[in-house]
Amino acid sequence: MELACLDLEGVLVPEIWIAFAERTGIEELRATTRDIPDYNVLMRQRLDILQQHNLKIDDIQQVIATLQPLPGAIEFIAWLRERFQVIILSDTFYEFSQPLMRQLNWPTLFCHKLVTDASGTVVNYQLRQEDPKRASVEALQSLNYRVLAAGDSYNDTTMLAAADVGFLIHAPQNVIEEFPQFKPLDSLEALKRAFLEASERDLTL
Ligand SMILES: [Mg+2]
Repeated sequence: MELACLDLEGVLVPEIWIAFAERTGIEELRATTRDIPDYNVLMRQRLDILQQHNLKIDDIQQVIATLQPLPGAIEFIAWLRERFQVIILSDTFYEFSQPLMRQLNWPTLFCHKLVTDASGTVVNYQLRQEDPKRASVEALQSLNYRVLAAGDSYNDTTMLAAADVGFLIHAPQNVIEEFPQFKPLDSLEALKRAFLEASERDLTL
């Protein structure tokens, strides 16, 4: 049995926080783990900024609903789901990704959760577990699935290493150079072919 695990942001949809910063014009929300390496410090800062701008979860979702999946992503995910069981492994939050997941026709998503109060203010966040992408791949393998995986960045590399076959897709040059063991691909069309070749079953485009 085979299963395809995919990263979300940078593969199927834009980087959600950065796109959200662009849509709202809130520059400070563009910070990523490259600027603030401690993820908890970064998330605290993001939640504080949302609160300063009085952005409730509904406002946030309305802005995110104006974003679109990356070109070809809707068709790609439909194609993939006809041929593989597909699970998206992401470090986003269900509440954030919801408007984009709707456009992708709700593939299965394992990610994290935001905590909101009765007024809709985002007060906290809940990470599902440590190193969740790797842990998910290993759990799926323990169910006797052979896992093919693809992602674009550092937070995918433990997933790609744990998977039976792992690919980089749309990855920045520094990630490609640091992880030469993962074949880099530059389009979803190339990823289709790579998944077909890596599959142990007889599939076609
Ligand atoms: Mg990504």
